[in-house]
Amino acid sequence: MNNIYLDYASTTPIDNDVLESYYKLLKENYANSDSLHEIGNVASSYLKSARQQIANLLKCKENEVIFTSGSTEANNLAIKGVAFAYQNRGKHLITSKVEHPSVLDSFKQLEETFGFEVTYLDIDENGLIDLNQLKNSLRNDTILVSIMAVNNEMGSIQNLQQISKIIKEHSHALYHVDATQAMCKEKLDYSVADLYNFSSHKFYGLKGAGVLIKKEKVRLLPILSGGQQEGGYRGGTVNWVSQVTLAKSLRLGVEKLEEHYKYVSDLKKYLIDKLQKIDNLVINSPQMSSPYILNIYFKNKRGEVIMNALSNKGIYISTKSACSSRSKDYSTSIYELTKDKNISKNSLRISLSHLTTKEELDIFVNELKEIVDNLKG
Ligand code: PMP
Repeated sequence: MNNIYLDYASTTPIDNDVLESYYKLLKENYANSDSLHEIGNVASSYLKSARQQIANLLKCKENEVIFTSGSTEANNLAIKGVAFAYQNRGKHLITSKVEHPSVLDSFKQLEETFGFEVTYLDIDENGLIDLNQLKNSLRNDTILVSIMAVNNEMGSIQNLQQISKIIKEHSHALYHVDATQAMCKEKLDYSVADLYNFSSHKFYGLKGAGVLIKKEKVRLLPILSGGQQEGGYRGGTVNWVSQVTLAKSLRLGVEKLEEHYKYVSDLKKYLIDKLQKIDNLVINSPQMSSPYILNIYFKNKRGEVIMNALSNKGIYISTKSACSSRSKDYSTSIYELTKDKNISKNSLRISLSHLTTKEELDIFVNELKEIVDNLKG
């Protein structure tokens, strides 16, 4: 049986060094980092250095680092936190139609329950928002624009600089970026964003740990009330051991970003070359997209059947993002890209890593070809 994992955009395995640090720290010290006794102080100083390390790596200030349980929480905190804090300035918000469900559902809630007005921007055939539509949508009462860095289903990469420039030139709105699929993968300048976030399990760290970076001047109403932790923005006992190891996986990921990027770019070319030889296979991902994500579909074949057949052979890919895998029967992003329900229902996402080998891709393509050949239309 194979064991070929090609679903790294859903989550990644833990790096061995990171796991060792986690285990060692957890065994050594179980204190609450807010306790005032000796072992609490030790925990607190670990957390402080993790915060410093993250701030150094991302060139921001220590008090701009807010630890969260991951990107779902960070997206909720950024979007609802800003909306509630600035609502007396205006109640208009802008996002795109292809954001992650933790972003889209936050906006839906603000719209349906809290009386905000939301503009959802379209994407073009490259998976990018229309910058003119953005410009024309900005109003005096727009308080927040949230546009992701890299799309989790098709891999399109938005132009953060241009988006930020338009927002700043035409409004007083803040710019939030969900950088979950970009961190440690794409070399982007996040400093153009007022808030951005990422999640440790996407770069070989633990699940349940993430960060929201919020510029000092930005106000935020906490979503989790109940404590002084994280500057008062996020109550609850800090999962400090996970956050310390997040800092480590971030450092490793940032240090190796270029090396990994080059390796994975070559892998993606290799894979596309092989896939293009298979009949009826169509590539959904735009040409200029992240090397880490490739979205495809087969004409007249059911994506789910292919995914399950591969899974039975020990090869793991996905039909859509894991976060909507049980709630929707099609991929929102692929639908917005193709405007075709059939394609978006049957699309397959392959996501790569520096751990992926050409041998694995050879086996994957052979098995895929065999499965597809044996499937009736
Ligand atoms: N945003 C994007 C773009 C993602 O891909 C994900 C993870 N699928 C999330 C947010 C949510 O991250 P987490 O799993 O840390 O809640």
